[in-house]
Amino acid sequence: MNPITHLLASWSLAEVSGLDQRDRAIVAWVGAAPDLDGFGAIIDGATRLLGYGDPALYGRFHHVLLHGLFGALLVPTIGLAFARRRFVAFLWGVAAVHIHLACDLVGSRGPTTDDIWPIPYLGPFSEAVTLSWSGQWPLNAWPNIALTLGLLAFVFARAASVGHSPVSLFSTGAHEAFVAAVQGRWRQIQGRA
Ligand SMILES: [Zn+2]
Repeated sequence: MNPITHLLASWSLAEVSGLDQRDRAIVAWVGAAPDLDGFGAIIDGATRLLGYGDPALYGRFHHVLLHGLFGALLVPTIGLAFARRRFVAFLWGVAAVHIHLACDLVGSRGPTTDDIWPIPYLGPFSEAVTLSWSGQWPLNAWPNIALTLGLLAFVFARAASVGHSPVSLFSTGAHEAFVAAVQGRWRQIQGRA
């Protein structure tokens, strides 16, 4: 799925974790981080541009390096180094990565039915447990859009009710402005009702 959808999903999961703000942010980033194995796209593009050929790193590593059990343990372990409640944050991180994998399993197909993207659960070490689903829908299909809209609705609900928002993952100032705007608008709507 889209990295933004992954980030919203893991941020939403972190919201129900009961962790403090710092650890929730770590869980949110951990849940989105498996897509960093798409780094090859940048290197492939750069080497092609510079005339050094195409090393095809994207195809080799994306959905292989961090989209499995190895990534589900490695990425939360890195997050753990920055967390306050380390073990609990680690477990939520493992859950967040698995939600990421489940989302990719159901909804990251390419344009044709031949483009089903499998999840090599024991990658990059083994292809023994490679998961795929014949019903996988395309990346831009309506269930992904519906999921993203549902997550955005949750974002607005959390901003209005408890003043949390995923904008805080990027900027405290922008987050405060966002929450103030949502809460102001919410009070207006309630005042009219
Ligand atoms: Zn992914």
